Amino acid sequence: ARAWHLMNRPQGLPTDEDFALKDVDLPPVGEGMLRVRNQWLSVDPYMRGRMNDVKSYVPPFQLGQPMDGGAIGEVIESKADGFAAGDLVQHMAGWRDEAVIDARTANKLPNLGAAPELFLGVLGVTGLTAYFGLLDAASAKEGDIVFVSAAAGAVGSVVVQIAKAKGMTVIGSAGGPDKCDFVRSLGADKVVDYKAGPILKGLAAAAPDGIDVYFDNVGGDHLDAAFALARQNARFAICGMIEGYNDPTPPSFRFIMRTIAMRIRLKGFIVFDYFPRMAEFYGEMGPWVANGTVKSRETVVDGLEAAPDAFRGLFSGANTGKMLIRL
Ligand code: NDP
Repeated sequence: ARAWHLMNRPQGLPTDEDFALKDVDLPPVGEGMLRVRNQWLSVDPYMRGRMNDVKSYVPPFQLGQPMDGGAIGEVIESKADGFAAGDLVQHMAGWRDEAVIDARTANKLPNLGAAPELFLGVLGVTGLTAYFGLLDAASAKEGDIVFVSAAAGAVGSVVVQIAKAKGMTVIGSAGGPDKCDFVRSLGADKVVDYKAGPILKGLAAAAPDGIDVYFDNVGGDHLDAAFALARQNARFAICGMIEGYNDPTPPSFRFIMRTIAMRIRLKGFIVFDYFPRMAEFYGEMGPWVANGTVKSRETVVDGLEAAPDAFRGLFSGANTGKMLIRL
């Protein structure tokens, strides 16, 4: 089998030298284990944090060792109850073509009649993040004016659609006219191209009455603009701050003091918090995906070799919707 290894702790945006694709020997398939051949790999912004040697909610990748991440694979060999060759499973041994894994870390794909790769996107962690981030962390409800950044990305594009399905007014921001068209096509009421001018100006024009909810994927100037436009009792779900992942310079905020006068509530969250509520998520998202209320969009790159480029592409906006690698 082959797996991508982390060779250096990247400084800034990772380079080719920071990764190496190497052969690995797979252990024998022991009791309770599965051998899986991966079909789809996920690359995600949070993996950048795991490339640094810092303690966080997931341990860092080890230098010289294979990386891991979300993947969909087919079971080739099973010595575990409840799994048989041919089953499709979602698991965490990504960044490689084949793996031997503990069956307790694998989830058989539920039968929702959806394409397998959707379980790395709208029906997977991406969708779960969007759904509970919006409805639980931000307590967003019908009638709210919702601002979401990186709205053409994986999580953001799902947030836009859930918010519309729940009767909210949606303002999305994205980089460039094509992405803005895409966000509009998802039902957003207003779209701001943050590359065409300062986000503060764009948001002020798009939200003359202010915003009740901010779903933050970007941080920095986007978050500051949201502070500036927040209405009384606004709620912010702090999901991610991708702007700073390759550049640890702390952002500065001009409008953060409005948190006090406007009684803004900031709530950070990690999607793991919501794993116990998966059934609730499938109950609403499954039908939405089946009946087209929530559409899935992916940017697919082919071949294990392309994984580092696909990963880096997240930071330059190479993806519309979920970035996936097809093996
Ligand atoms: P996306 O599919 O949204 O990909 C990242 C997007 O971010 C790019 O397409 C790009 O879009 C935008 N972007 C990149 N750099 C910048 C920048 N400097 N300024 C503004 N926009 C930028 O990724 P995900 O949907 O997987 O993740 C979105 C966010 O959610 C991330 O911050 C991630 O860390 C976070 N997250 C948090 C989770 C949690 O549990 N809290 C779980 C999952 C994700 P554009 O072309 O428009 O710039």
